[in-house]
Amino acid sequence: MKHKPTTAAGQLTKLFIGLFIAILLVVNLVFIATATNLVYRYADDQAEEVTETIESDWAPNKDWTPLLTAYVARQDDDAIAITSGQRHYYSPKAPRIFGRINHRGWSINNLQVTQEGVYYLRQQIIHGSLVRVAINVDDLLRLTAWLLGLTILINLVAIIFAIPLIRRLAHRWTTPLTKLNQDINTVNPQSDQPQSLTVPDQPLEIKNVAESFNDLLDHQYQAMQREKFFVANASHELKTPLAGILGHVNLIKRHGKRHPELVDKSLGYIDQEAQRMQRMINELLTLEGHQSQGALTATNLVPIISDEVASIRGAYQREFKFNAPTELSYEITASDFQSLAHNLLENAAKYSPADSTINVHLKQNDNDVIFQVADQGRGIAPENRQRIFDRFYREDESHSSTVPGSGIGLAIVKAIVDKYQGRITVSDNQPHGAVFTVSLPREK
Ligand code: ADP
Repeated sequence: MKHKPTTAAGQLTKLFIGLFIAILLVVNLVFIATATNLVYRYADDQAEEVTETIESDWAPNKDWTPLLTAYVARQDDDAIAITSGQRHYYSPKAPRIFGRINHRGWSINNLQVTQEGVYYLRQQIIHGSLVRVAINVDDLLRLTAWLLGLTILINLVAIIFAIPLIRRLAHRWTTPLTKLNQDINTVNPQSDQPQSLTVPDQPLEIKNVAESFNDLLDHQYQAMQREKFFVANASHELKTPLAGILGHVNLIKRHGKRHPELVDKSLGYIDQEAQRMQRMINELLTLEGHQSQGALTATNLVPIISDEVASIRGAYQREFKFNAPTELSYEITASDFQSLAHNLLENAAKYSPADSTINVHLKQNDNDVIFQVADQGRGIAPENRQRIFDRFYREDESHSSTVPGSGIGLAIVKAIVDKYQGRITVSDNQPHGAVFTVSLPREK
């Protein structure tokens, strides 16, 4: 069977009402115990007073009847009996009362319940005579019962008034939770606008939940924006070469037969653009981590850099100075480090003048392996130093357009650095140029 889920307010109300009734029950039990004890002690005192008087007035062969009668005159339901040898002295009603006490009813300790009422009994031998005292406690018990009835009535009234009060308090206590719940229900994760919940000042737990949820929403919003930006840019970047390719295919279809000389030129263009698209798609795949990853073993970084330096030196005619120990190994896949080195070295070459020198350093200290590429190009404006790692971002589009590129290289570098919990920083070279420094932690 499925239970209807209970609200926090419902649970609190139930809990507090239960607690309240339990407290009242305990108070009542304490009341009953105290009242019974008082009655018992009062009767015991009374009986003791009688036996003490008899003991102090003791005289052999004394006729006790007048004293006993005088004694019970105040409380004629009490009974006193003295048995001295063959002689019996009774207060009025005593024979009947003791008759009942001896034959009927049931008793707890010295208390005896009879048809005549409830009696407290005390027996004592005084100077060889048996003295029996029966104190009637009916009046006291009635008073106690009456008081108990009154307390129970007050308790019931208290419960009746407490229930709506507790309910209201429970609702007030759970308002921040209810509000949070309502807010969460109105959140639309697909919305174009950043979403957030109202964070209450208290209670602390709900404040923390709301803040964490807001962090999560913010994170998701940023991710969604990045995704949108990415899709928009990727399609834009791919659309241009694709349109060029289609244009040239049409050209060949329409004029290829009559002007065969156009075919070669167009095929060259198509080939070049197709290769550009392939490069871009490969870069995107690398960035998204969809390409197969090599095993994570200790890789010697020195030959990877040397190979990259050699190939870029050939392609760009730049002077490279490579400063490194003969061997420096790090736990990284060869393809990741090759991609990282390739992008940084190629950028240094692309964005610096011909015949300038590019300084490359590889070293390690106690904590990190440090790879540094310093060029003598135009450098990077401080305000753009964060953005150059965004996908498709190209600083100064007009200037960059003279240099081929898609704006993905540094995003790949950043993704690789993040993957190995490293850091990448950009600073100025002297007198001009950019310095990219990658630090990879030796202990992860
Ligand atoms: P791409 O080089 O394909 O444009 P990157 O992601 O590698 O893309 O670089 C992003 C941008 O950062 C480049 O367009 C360029 O503006 C800037 N940049 C990168 N490296 C350098 C450098 N060494 N010197 C000057 N600018 C650079």
